[in-house]
Order: sequence, then structure tokens, then C-alpha cells
Amino acid sequence: MARMSESMTTVETAGDNPTITLRPKPRSAPIDKLGRKLHDLRISVTDRCNFRCKYCMPKEIFGAAYKFMPREMVMSFEEIARAANIFVQLGVRKLRLTGGEPLVRKGVEELVERLTAIRAPNDEPVDIAMTTNGSILDKKAKALAKAGLKRITVHLDAIDDTIFKFMNDVDWPVAKVLAGIEAARAEGMHPIKVNTVIKRSNNVGEILPVVRHFRGTGITPRFIEFMDVGNTNGWSMEEVVPGDEVISIIQKEFPLVRLDPTSAGETAQRWGFADSNGNWDPKLGEVGVICSVTHPFCSQCNRARLSSDGRVYLCLFATTGYDVRMMMRQGASDEEIKAKIESFWSARTDRYSELRSSLTPEIRARRHKIEMSYIGG
Ligand code: SAM
Ligand code: SF4
Ligand code: SF4
Repeated sequence: MARMSESMTTVETAGDNPTITLRPKPRSAPIDKLGRKLHDLRISVTDRCNFRCKYCMPKEIFGAAYKFMPREMVMSFEEIARAANIFVQLGVRKLRLTGGEPLVRKGVEELVERLTAIRAPNDEPVDIAMTTNGSILDKKAKALAKAGLKRITVHLDAIDDTIFKFMNDVDWPVAKVLAGIEAARAEGMHPIKVNTVIKRSNNVGEILPVVRHFRGTGITPRFIEFMDVGNTNGWSMEEVVPGDEVISIIQKEFPLVRLDPTSAGETAQRWGFADSNGNWDPKLGEVGVICSVTHPFCSQCNRARLSSDGRVYLCLFATTGYDVRMMMRQGASDEEIKAKIESFWSARTDRYSELRSSLTPEIRARRHKIEMSYIGG
């Protein structure tokens, strides 16, 4: 009689001739030292970008002399899909493509197609999403939708064209990004979210124009506090506009009501536009604030990140990552890689944002963090 491995489970099919199939036993997702279960994976597909947002890839650092990752270090689509599948078998149910700018990676829709084919144990659905600067989304939306992408987040820091160009620092017109958002909508993508990073001296005056533009359209703007990611963006607390302040700016024109989170580990605080009775009117939609600095959500953080050179990082502010690309290229099996990720996650204690205010500027400056453009948001 065949011996059954402990990691296998049986599936019997009904009918006159029942058959027994062996399938890998669904594993429960690893839990870290602070009780957080692995659930999301952000995948950076490139460290390159066609924008030079000052808070992410300032031109002075990421100029002509900057050495981006050599091609052979970048994970192939096959390697990314293999890694994503391993994470899904470990309990991940949300995959988000990011960068750098994911749309500048040639043929990224082919990767989307590979990811949409991944199945979780027990056929639980896996969400596939993308975060993009939207610069070429007008050209790419059709192919992405055809490949199976349904959810998209577009980064847009202003409605005013002059401010928008100042923020992206490559003179990219806002109209192109707005056209990209429309193209995504025309392809039936839903939900569409808009990410706006607010820096006090740059675009605090754009909060209301962004809200006015998207209110009632079904598209949700989310305002993100400027973070001290990486080592190059000249972060200071004076430039951070707290989410509470963003909400009070919006409330002066549009009454809002606080909404419950839609899922555990949701990073954005949700606020709905109120009707004349003070109740949320879903037709008017909602806004969000992501208060990573003033209200850190480390205790709920269920995300791992995969860099474009195949390192797994467990925090946006991490200094080291675990190289799964190397394991793959050295011939490791899926089970061996799974075991590594499991033990890496199980030892996780990261909670940088909760500790930030207790760190002196000198300690913060000495910590050599990874760059946002390398790991994605
Ligand atoms: N290029 C794509 C984009 O801009 O959406 C994907 C990568 S980008 C690194 C992901 C997200 O990080 C964007 O929403 C961006 O606005 C956000 N981001 C980058 N630098 C940031 C910073 N210093 N503070 C807060 N958010 C930041
Ligand atoms: Fe590029 Fe996105 Fe960074 Fe802006 S935030 S420089 S679009 S990677
Ligand atoms: Fe997660 Fe690190 Fe951000 Fe905290 S600081 S929410 S642990 S990524």
C-alpha cells in the first residue's frame, strides 16, 4: 500500500468509481513574533522609473550617473511567478505589483497573466493588484485587463498641472495620468484607488482639488503621509501633513463619516462622504488617509515584500532581505524555499513606524534603509 506523506491530504471525488487524489495539505500561514500572520506580498518588478518624484527618487541622486540593477540580477517573470506561487502556498492571498514603475517593465502584462493563473490551496481566491504612476496606463490598460488585472492604484500628487509636473520632476502632464485612470475604468477595473503623497511645502493645497475631482466617480483618493523611507529623500517631520489634518481640511468642504475597515491589516483609514442627514452616501464614495507616521499600523502589518532582485524584506524600513532568487538559481526546491520564508517570517519583529518617534535623528540617519523605488510602496 502506498505510504502517504504527512504533508499530503486526500481528495475523494464522488461517483460510481471514486478516485483518491493526493494534494499538498494546505499549510497555515506563518505567524511572526508579534502574532502577525503573513497575508500580503508586494512584488517590485523593476527598480527603474520614468518619474523622479522628489520624495522617492530625487534627481540629484537618481540622475544619469545612478547605477540601476544590471539585467541579470532582475528576476525573470518565471522566477517571480514561482516565488509568488510559493508565497500563496504559504498563506498569501494578495499580490500587488509595484516598482519602481511596474509599467516600464517590458511585457509586464505577461507577468499579470502568470499570476492570475496561481491558485491557492482549497481554491481560495488570490487578489492581484498593481500600483503605478499611471504615466502610460492609457496605452497599457487594455492589455492589463485582458491579462486579468482588475484592481489598480494610481499615484497622482496633484490636479494642477504645474504642481503635478513639479512633483514628478520630469515634466509629465497630469492629463496623461487622468487619461490612464479613465482607460482603466473603461476596461472595467474596480476598485480604482488614487494615492496622493502630501508634502506640506509642495502640495497641501491639492488635497481639495483631488477630492473634488474624484468625489462621486467611484474612484477613491487616499492621502499618504510623507515617510522617511530610504536615505535620500530629505525627510523631516515638518513636511509631514498628519492624516487628521487632511481629514479636517476635507471636512471644511465635504462632511465625512468614519467607516469600518474592509479587511484586517488595511492600511488606510476610511472616511465616507456624508449626505444631508449626516449618513454615508455610497454614491458619493469615500476617501482614505494612510497615517504611517502619526498612527502607525505595525501591529496589523501582514506584508512581505519581494524586491526586483529577488530578496524578501519584511518591512519597508528593513536594512536586509533574504535572497530567494539565489536559492532558486542554486536549484533549491519549492519546499526548501517555503521553509526558509517560513522561518524568516516566524522570526520577524519589525515595527519601525511604531519606534520612529523614539529614535534620535542620528540613529535614524545611521540606519541604512532600502529605497522605496527598490522595494515598492
Ligand atoms: N511607481 C509606482 C507609483 O508611484 O505608484 C509604484 C512604486 S511607488 C514606490 C509606490 C507608492 O509609494 C506610491 O504610491 C508613492 O506615492 C509612494 N511613496 C513613494 N515614496 C514615498 C514617501 N517618501 N512617503 C510616502 N509614500 C511614498
Ligand atoms: Fe517613480 Fe513611483 Fe517613486 Fe514616483 S513614487 S519616483 S513614480 S517609483
Ligand atoms: Fe509594516 Fe514596517 Fe511599515 Fe510597520 S514600519 S507597518 S512593520 S512595513
